[in-house]
Amino acid sequence: RMASLKLVTYRLPPLPTIGEIIKLYNLKAEKQLSQNFLLDMRLTDKIIRQAGNLKDTHVCEVGPGPGGLTRSILNAGAADVLVVEKDIRFIPGLQLLSEAAPGRMRIAQGDILTYRLDKVFPAHIAKTWEDVPPNLHIIGNLPFSVSTPLLIKWLEQMSNRSGPFMFGRTRLTLTFQKEVAERLTASKGSPQRSRLSVMAQYLCTVKKCFTIPGRAFVPKPDVDVGVVHFTPLAQPQIQQPFKLVERIVRNAFQFRRKHCRRGLEMLFPESQRQELSEQLLHSADVDPTLRPTELSISEFRALVDAYSRLCHEHQGLNDYDFREELRLKHKTKRAAGNTKEPHLQ
Ligand code: SAM
Repeated sequence: RMASLKLVTYRLPPLPTIGEIIKLYNLKAEKQLSQNFLLDMRLTDKIIRQAGNLKDTHVCEVGPGPGGLTRSILNAGAADVLVVEKDIRFIPGLQLLSEAAPGRMRIAQGDILTYRLDKVFPAHIAKTWEDVPPNLHIIGNLPFSVSTPLLIKWLEQMSNRSGPFMFGRTRLTLTFQKEVAERLTASKGSPQRSRLSVMAQYLCTVKKCFTIPGRAFVPKPDVDVGVVHFTPLAQPQIQQPFKLVERIVRNAFQFRRKHCRRGLEMLFPESQRQELSEQLLHSADVDPTLRPTELSISEFRALVDAYSRLCHEHQGLNDYDFREELRLKHKTKRAAGNTKEPHLQ
């Protein structure tokens, strides 16, 4: 007898093409919703390869649409694919796909910005933070208007180890407008260096995989698309609350072309601005004449740590917002100038 060769195949049975699915279910892309579809399976396979080996893994795919990337994920051998799609029109096409991969695909209709990813995977796949990443991947080609706020939300959850990061250092493979992908991966000194670079890189290893020309999508968007891969760091480079880091980074980049000191000063009330910003930069050992784009992540770490110490010494500093101070000032001025208005007499 022939030795029993256990050949496990993950390939999907013959199915209509994505183009045919779109016609079959009348899935016209909604321009206002920035729906641009990938129909070329070689391209969707290439994106999926960036995620790493998906064999026997759990995957959450965000915004599957007609299901091109979903097919590549299934073909790569994922054991459990949860797709979260907002637009109800895509559900029947996705159901067809899920029937072709029995027991391997779950469909959720909902908004990924509010969907609870901490509840939908088995607890036993969880790893500790310092361990290797869990067998859980997040993959998605979302509208650009969704991908950036979603990434910021995930970065915050990463720093709290909540949401999909309850399971450990869950990896993300996502698409962005090419310029945003460049900002995400920009190192210090590069013209693309920005808030987003620092916020992503203090928490993750960020890798720009490749660029997809806009013409690969149907309909064609006005921009090119970058695929970016994120692996959360076992040791985040800044060990402070996310909101605090965000506050320093936002202030530092306020005046991109000026010395970093100009933006950082605005962390402090006018009356103590000079003195406290000097203290901050001195205690962080950061050269005040560097441009914000020239600051390294360790310099940001030193700044956030020094600012946090200052907040302990000066009550209320953490709540200070220079815009509010300006607003109040204008209001007082206006009130003073308005005393001759009829309704005030
Ligand atoms: N992934 C598919 C592909 O590559 O061909 C579709 C890409 S299309 C740019 C974005 C998809 O995300 C659409 O199907 C859209 O309905 C869905 N989507 C948009 N916003 C969403 C949200 N907040 N939550 C879940 N899905 C969303």
